[in-house]
Amino acid sequence: MALDNAADTSLLLGKDEVPPVLEQNAQGRSPFLLTADHYGRMIPRALGDLGVPAGELTRHIAWDIGIAGVAEALSKQIDAHLIAQRYSRLVIDCNRPPGAPSSIPVMSEATAIAGNENLAPGAAEARRVAIFDPYHRRITEAIDARLRAGMPTVLVALHSFTPVYAGVARPWHIGTLYHRDTRLPPLLLRLLRAETDLVVGDNEPYAVSDATDYGIPVHGEARGLMNTGIEIRQDLIADPAGQKQWAARLARIFGEIETAMRTQKLFWI
Ligand SMILES: [Zn+2]
Repeated sequence: MALDNAADTSLLLGKDEVPPVLEQNAQGRSPFLLTADHYGRMIPRALGDLGVPAGELTRHIAWDIGIAGVAEALSKQIDAHLIAQRYSRLVIDCNRPPGAPSSIPVMSEATAIAGNENLAPGAAEARRVAIFDPYHRRITEAIDARLRAGMPTVLVALHSFTPVYAGVARPWHIGTLYHRDTRLPPLLLRLLRAETDLVVGDNEPYAVSDATDYGIPVHGEARGLMNTGIEIRQDLIADPAGQKQWAARLARIFGEIETAMRTQKLFWI
Protein backbone atom coordinates (compact mmCIF):
# COMPACT_ATOMS: atom_id res chain seq x y z
CA MET A 1 0.00 0.00 0.00
CA ALA A 2 2.81 2.33 0.88
CA LEU A 3 4.47 1.41 -2.38
CA ASP A 4 1.49 2.55 -4.37
CA ASN A 5 1.59 5.82 -2.51
CA ALA A 6 5.31 6.06 -2.67
CA ALA A 7 5.29 9.59 -3.98
CA ASP A 8 4.83 10.40 -0.30
CA THR A 9 8.30 9.19 0.53
CA SER A 10 7.82 9.46 4.26
CA LEU A 11 5.61 6.37 4.14
CA LEU A 12 8.32 3.88 3.39
CA LEU A 13 9.77 3.63 6.90
CA GLY A 14 7.28 3.82 9.74
CA LYS A 15 8.15 6.02 12.69
CA ASP A 16 8.48 2.90 14.85
CA GLU A 17 10.91 1.23 12.44
CA VAL A 18 14.64 1.04 12.96
CA PRO A 19 16.52 3.94 11.32
CA PRO A 20 18.84 3.02 8.47
CA VAL A 21 22.01 4.55 9.85
CA LEU A 22 24.00 2.89 12.61
CA GLU A 23 26.93 4.76 14.09
CA GLN A 24 29.50 3.60 16.54
CA ASN A 25 32.29 5.52 18.18
CA ALA A 26 31.44 8.81 16.46
CA GLN A 27 34.06 10.60 18.55
CA GLY A 28 36.76 8.10 17.61
CA ARG A 29 40.20 9.63 17.10
CA SER A 30 41.47 7.21 14.46
CA PRO A 31 42.29 8.65 11.04
CA PHE A 32 40.34 5.74 9.55
CA LEU A 33 36.66 6.41 8.90
CA LEU A 34 34.89 3.07 8.48
CA THR A 35 31.77 2.55 6.40
CA ALA A 36 29.65 -0.57 5.88
CA ASP A 37 27.15 -0.13 3.05
CA HIS A 38 25.89 -3.70 3.32
CA TYR A 39 25.93 -4.09 7.10
CA GLY A 40 22.30 -5.19 7.53
CA ARG A 41 19.51 -7.10 5.86
CA MET A 42 16.38 -5.47 7.24
CA ILE A 43 13.44 -4.75 4.96
CA PRO A 44 10.97 -1.93 5.56
CA ARG A 45 7.66 -3.37 6.74
CA ALA A 46 5.84 -1.80 3.79
CA LEU A 47 7.88 -3.90 1.38
CA GLY A 48 7.04 -7.26 3.01
CA ASP A 49 9.55 -9.89 1.94
CA LEU A 50 10.20 -8.32 -1.47
CA GLY A 51 8.66 -11.46 -2.94
CA VAL A 52 11.79 -13.41 -2.06
CA PRO A 53 11.79 -16.75 -0.16
CA ALA A 54 13.00 -16.40 3.44
CA GLY A 55 16.00 -18.65 2.81
CA GLU A 56 17.29 -16.24 0.19
CA LEU A 57 17.04 -13.23 2.47
CA THR A 58 19.84 -14.50 4.71
CA ARG A 59 22.21 -15.21 1.81
CA HIS A 60 24.96 -12.96 0.52
CA ILE A 61 22.61 -11.41 -2.00
CA ALA A 62 20.84 -9.57 0.83
CA TRP A 63 23.86 -8.30 2.81
CA ASP A 64 27.55 -8.68 3.47
CA ILE A 65 27.59 -11.70 5.77
CA GLY A 66 29.92 -11.30 8.74
CA ILE A 67 30.97 -7.71 8.08
CA ALA A 68 28.85 -6.25 10.90
CA GLY A 69 30.86 -8.11 13.55
CA VAL A 70 34.18 -7.25 11.93
CA ALA A 71 33.27 -3.58 11.52
CA GLU A 72 32.09 -3.14 15.10
CA ALA A 73 35.10 -4.91 16.60
CA LEU A 74 37.54 -3.03 14.37
CA SER A 75 35.91 0.30 15.19
CA LYS A 76 36.41 -0.43 18.90
CA GLN A 77 39.95 -1.67 18.58
CA ILE A 78 41.32 1.23 16.57
CA ASP A 79 38.99 3.89 18.03
CA ALA A 80 37.44 4.61 14.63
CA HIS A 81 34.10 6.11 13.71
CA LEU A 82 31.91 3.53 12.00
CA ILE A 83 28.92 4.49 9.85
CA ALA A 84 26.84 1.53 8.69
CA GLN A 85 23.55 0.90 6.91
CA ARG A 86 21.05 -1.56 8.36
CA TYR A 87 18.68 -2.25 5.45
CA SER A 88 19.19 -4.90 2.79
CA ARG A 89 20.96 -4.08 -0.43
CA LEU A 90 17.98 -5.73 -2.12
CA VAL A 91 15.85 -2.76 -0.99
CA ILE A 92 18.33 -0.24 -2.34
CA ASP A 93 22.05 -0.81 -2.73
CA CYS A 94 23.93 1.93 -0.91
CA ASN A 95 27.04 1.25 -2.97
CA ARG A 96 25.42 1.84 -6.34
CA PRO A 97 24.60 5.12 -8.01
CA PRO A 98 20.82 5.59 -7.71
CA GLY A 99 19.25 4.80 -11.05
CA ALA A 100 21.86 2.18 -11.98
CA PRO A 101 20.21 -1.17 -12.82
CA SER A 102 21.85 -2.81 -9.79
CA SER A 103 20.67 -0.07 -7.43
CA ILE A 104 17.34 -1.86 -6.95
CA PRO A 105 18.07 -5.23 -8.54
CA VAL A 106 15.39 -7.35 -10.16
CA MET A 107 17.83 -10.27 -10.19
CA SER A 108 20.69 -11.02 -7.80
CA GLU A 109 22.99 -13.93 -8.68
CA ALA A 110 20.24 -16.37 -9.70
CA THR A 111 17.42 -15.07 -7.52
CA ALA A 112 14.56 -12.99 -8.92
CA ILE A 113 13.55 -10.12 -6.65
CA ALA A 114 9.85 -9.94 -7.51
CA GLY A 115 9.20 -6.95 -5.26
CA ASN A 116 11.64 -4.91 -7.32
CA GLU A 117 9.90 -5.47 -10.63
CA ASN A 118 7.67 -2.86 -12.21
CA LEU A 119 8.01 -0.39 -9.38
CA ALA A 120 5.26 2.18 -9.04
CA PRO A 121 6.21 5.74 -9.93
CA GLY A 122 8.09 7.26 -7.04
CA ALA A 123 8.87 3.92 -5.39
CA ALA A 124 12.58 4.02 -6.20
CA GLU A 125 12.72 7.60 -5.00
CA ALA A 126 10.99 6.59 -1.75
CA ARG A 127 13.68 4.00 -1.05
CA ARG A 128 16.37 6.50 -1.81
CA VAL A 129 14.90 9.15 0.47
CA ALA A 130 14.28 6.71 3.33
CA ILE A 131 17.53 4.75 3.26
CA PHE A 132 20.19 5.80 0.77
CA ASP A 133 20.11 9.55 1.38
CA PRO A 134 20.30 9.56 5.20
CA TYR A 135 23.20 7.12 5.13
CA HIS A 136 25.27 9.06 2.64
CA ARG A 137 24.33 12.36 4.23
CA ARG A 138 25.82 11.16 7.52
CA ILE A 139 29.05 10.10 5.81
CA THR A 140 29.26 13.51 4.12
CA GLU A 141 28.59 15.31 7.41
CA ALA A 142 31.13 13.22 9.26
CA ILE A 143 33.81 13.97 6.66
CA ASP A 144 32.88 17.68 6.71
CA ALA A 145 33.24 17.78 10.48
CA ARG A 146 36.58 15.98 10.42
CA LEU A 147 37.95 18.32 7.76
CA ARG A 148 36.78 21.36 9.71
CA ALA A 149 38.51 19.99 12.79
CA GLY A 150 41.67 19.30 10.83
CA MET A 151 41.44 15.55 11.49
CA PRO A 152 43.29 13.27 9.14
CA THR A 153 40.78 11.10 7.32
CA VAL A 154 41.21 7.86 5.43
CA LEU A 155 38.03 6.29 4.11
CA VAL A 156 37.78 2.51 4.44
CA ALA A 157 34.70 0.84 2.96
CA LEU A 158 34.23 -2.59 4.55
CA HIS A 159 32.62 -5.38 2.56
CA SER A 160 32.51 -9.17 2.40
CA PHE A 161 32.16 -11.49 -0.57
CA THR A 162 30.65 -14.91 -1.09
CA PRO A 163 33.18 -17.75 -1.42
CA VAL A 164 31.36 -19.12 -4.47
CA TYR A 165 29.59 -16.93 -7.00
CA ALA A 166 27.54 -18.42 -9.82
CA GLY A 167 29.31 -21.74 -9.28
CA VAL A 168 32.83 -20.30 -9.39
CA ALA A 169 35.00 -20.57 -6.25
CA ARG A 170 37.06 -17.56 -5.26
CA PRO A 171 40.60 -18.21 -3.99
CA TRP A 172 41.23 -14.93 -2.16
CA HIS A 173 40.87 -14.52 1.59
CA ILE A 174 40.79 -10.76 1.33
CA GLY A 175 40.87 -8.21 -1.46
CA THR A 176 41.62 -4.52 -1.71
CA LEU A 177 39.40 -2.41 -3.96
CA TYR A 178 40.54 0.86 -5.34
CA HIS A 179 40.57 3.05 -8.42
CA ARG A 180 42.13 6.50 -8.26
CA ASP A 181 43.97 6.45 -4.92
CA THR A 182 47.61 5.63 -5.59
CA ARG A 183 48.78 6.18 -2.01
CA LEU A 184 46.98 3.84 0.34
CA PRO A 185 46.27 0.73 -1.76
CA PRO A 186 49.92 -0.16 -2.54
CA LEU A 187 50.80 0.12 1.14
CA LEU A 188 47.82 -1.94 2.22
CA LEU A 189 48.56 -4.58 -0.41
CA ARG A 190 52.17 -4.82 0.71
CA LEU A 191 51.17 -5.30 4.34
CA LEU A 192 48.46 -7.84 3.52
CA ARG A 193 50.86 -9.80 1.34
CA ALA A 194 53.34 -9.90 4.21
CA GLU A 195 50.76 -12.06 6.01
CA THR A 196 52.04 -15.36 4.68
CA ASP A 197 48.82 -17.29 5.31
CA LEU A 198 46.72 -15.03 3.07
CA VAL A 199 45.78 -15.09 -0.58
CA VAL A 200 45.29 -11.40 -1.33
CA GLY A 201 43.23 -10.04 -4.21
CA ASP A 202 44.43 -6.88 -5.95
CA ASN A 203 41.15 -5.36 -7.09
CA GLU A 204 39.68 -8.84 -6.76
CA PRO A 205 37.02 -10.16 -6.57
CA TYR A 206 35.84 -6.72 -7.69
CA ALA A 207 37.35 -3.49 -8.89
CA VAL A 208 35.95 -0.07 -8.06
CA SER A 209 34.37 1.98 -10.84
CA ASP A 210 32.15 5.04 -11.04
CA ALA A 211 29.40 2.96 -12.66
CA THR A 212 29.37 0.13 -10.12
CA ASP A 213 30.28 1.90 -6.88
CA TYR A 214 29.18 4.90 -4.91
CA GLY A 215 30.98 5.22 -1.57
CA ILE A 216 34.59 5.23 -2.76
CA PRO A 217 34.09 7.52 -5.79
CA VAL A 218 31.82 9.99 -4.02
CA HIS A 219 33.13 10.14 -0.46
CA GLY A 220 36.74 9.13 -1.07
CA GLU A 221 37.91 10.12 -4.52
CA ALA A 222 35.78 13.19 -5.17
CA ARG A 223 36.86 14.63 -1.83
CA GLY A 224 40.52 13.81 -2.30
CA LEU A 225 40.69 11.45 0.68
CA MET A 226 42.95 8.47 0.78
CA ASN A 227 40.65 5.50 0.50
CA THR A 228 40.26 1.83 -0.08
CA GLY A 229 37.61 -0.83 -0.12
CA ILE A 230 38.27 -4.08 1.69
CA GLU A 231 36.50 -7.32 0.87
CA ILE A 232 36.76 -10.31 3.23
CA ARG A 233 35.58 -13.77 2.21
CA GLN A 234 32.41 -14.61 4.04
CA ASP A 235 33.24 -18.13 5.18
CA LEU A 236 36.14 -16.69 7.19
CA ILE A 237 33.93 -14.30 9.15
CA ALA A 238 30.72 -16.30 9.41
CA ASP A 239 30.99 -16.66 13.20
CA PRO A 240 31.99 -14.30 16.02
CA ALA A 241 35.37 -16.01 16.46
CA GLY A 242 36.30 -15.38 12.83
CA GLN A 243 35.02 -11.82 12.99
CA LYS A 244 37.15 -11.11 16.07
CA GLN A 245 40.20 -12.67 14.50
CA TRP A 246 39.88 -10.60 11.33
CA ALA A 247 39.17 -7.41 13.21
CA ALA A 248 42.32 -7.96 15.26
CA ARG A 249 44.36 -8.63 12.14
CA LEU A 250 43.05 -5.52 10.40
CA ALA A 251 43.57 -3.43 13.54
CA ARG A 252 47.22 -4.46 13.59
CA ILE A 253 47.65 -3.71 9.88
CA PHE A 254 45.86 -0.36 10.12
CA GLY A 255 48.16 0.51 13.00
CA GLU A 256 51.16 -0.18 10.77
CA ILE A 257 49.64 1.94 8.00
CA GLU A 258 49.06 4.81 10.39
CA THR A 259 52.66 4.66 11.59
CA ALA A 260 54.00 4.43 8.03
CA MET A 261 51.94 7.39 6.94
CA ARG A 262 52.97 9.54 9.86
CA THR A 263 56.63 8.68 9.41
CA GLN A 264 56.58 9.24 5.68
CA LYS A 265 54.51 12.39 6.20
CA LEU A 266 52.08 11.28 3.53
CA PHE A 267 49.25 13.70 3.02
CA TRP A 268 46.10 12.58 4.74
CA ILE A 269 43.78 14.62 2.61
ZN1 LIG B 1 29.37 -5.04 0.17
